[in-house]
Amino acid sequence: MCHGGGSPFALEPDLGPAPAYRLFDVRVRQKVALSPSLLRITFHGEEVSRMRLDGADQRIRIFFPDAFGRAPALPHVTDWLQVWRDLPASERPPQRTFTLRALRREAGEFDVDFFAPCEFGPATTWARLAAREEGLQVAAPDGAFDGDCQGHEWRPPATPERLLLVADQTALPAVAAILEDLAAQQDLPPPTEVFVEMADMSDRIDLPAWCGLRVIWLARKGAPCGVRLIEAAHRAELPPSACGAPEPMPDIDADATLLWDRASPREAGFYAWIAGEAGVVKEIRRVLVSERGLQRAALTATGYWRLGRTPFDDPD
Ligand SMILES: Cc1cc2nc3c(=O)[nH]c(=O)nc-3n(C[C@H](O)[C@H](O)[C@H](O)COP(=O)(O)OP(=O)(O)OC[C@H]3O[C@@H](n4cnc5c(N)ncnc54)[C@H](O)[C@@H]3O)c2cc1C
Repeated sequence: MCHGGGSPFALEPDLGPAPAYRLFDVRVRQKVALSPSLLRITFHGEEVSRMRLDGADQRIRIFFPDAFGRAPALPHVTDWLQVWRDLPASERPPQRTFTLRALRREAGEFDVDFFAPCEFGPATTWARLAAREEGLQVAAPDGAFDGDCQGHEWRPPATPERLLLVADQTALPAVAAILEDLAAQQDLPPPTEVFVEMADMSDRIDLPAWCGLRVIWLARKGAPCGVRLIEAAHRAELPPSACGAPEPMPDIDADATLLWDRASPREAGFYAWIAGEAGVVKEIRRVLVSERGLQRAALTATGYWRLGRTPFDDPD
């Protein structure tokens, strides 16, 4: 393991109304290394054709084998989350949140990109060892649900004037999906600045390109996680129209609660999206809002993981 477990941190991210997400039994179709640290696993399943993707950074919950190697076998009921919570800790399959990187309904398959440079915990350990046709369970948006399934945070204005994305490698799959979505929807997407922090330059992956898209890859080169992203927050381009008087941010305990800040819905203007280690995201938010005066209404900031902590409360 790269890190010790630590105590569980915080609540799980809100996945929207219960029936919006349903359980899918899935199997590994293929595994491809996109870079030295990023593994793409393609899953397939009989019912994947009824899965849905409502937002570019759509999150899903993956249930992994337990400590005895038993595959997850939760019943297909509406309240699958409560069933999971009610299980004794020893029988509860570990679950972690990932981005639904791509969904191909016709082929009944979808991709998840795992940042797995080593075995952090059950998710990365599983991803590194996963073999073809190995089975898992996934909670994902149900195509039959009437309305927005929620579980996605990328909500730029209808006509964004400029975009900023700041991410570490766990959020790189979401960044790639967001950029693909922008490129697919408009002939010329708005000017966009993207900062991605990686351990090493060899971890760069192919991303869409357009005139006005600037992707800045930041190699950590041994620096602590997030340092390069916090530096970038000081120099990211913020249009004066998106800034006002610096606003003090209410302090939150990144160890005790998830950092989950949503921008206000707006028709136009600047929009910033940040995701990564919760303490780093909190500091970037402070730099942008409390030092540089970015309006909070223009900022979505999400803690994807917390250094030294595992993500789910253990109810026992
Ligand atoms: C909305 C959302 C979307 C996400 N999308 C993706 C995605 O598409 N791809 C992806 O790879 N991850 C994604 N993540 C992050 C992923 O859920 C976490 O990295 C998860 O903790 C990994 O689980 P694990 O079982 O391997 O490690 P855990 O058991 O959760 O953690 C064990 C230890 O490893 C440490 N650790 C966990 N992740 C990292 C890391 N990246 N770097 C250093 N130390 C770490 C923890 O702090 C802890 O000390 C997403 C998270 C959220 C909330």
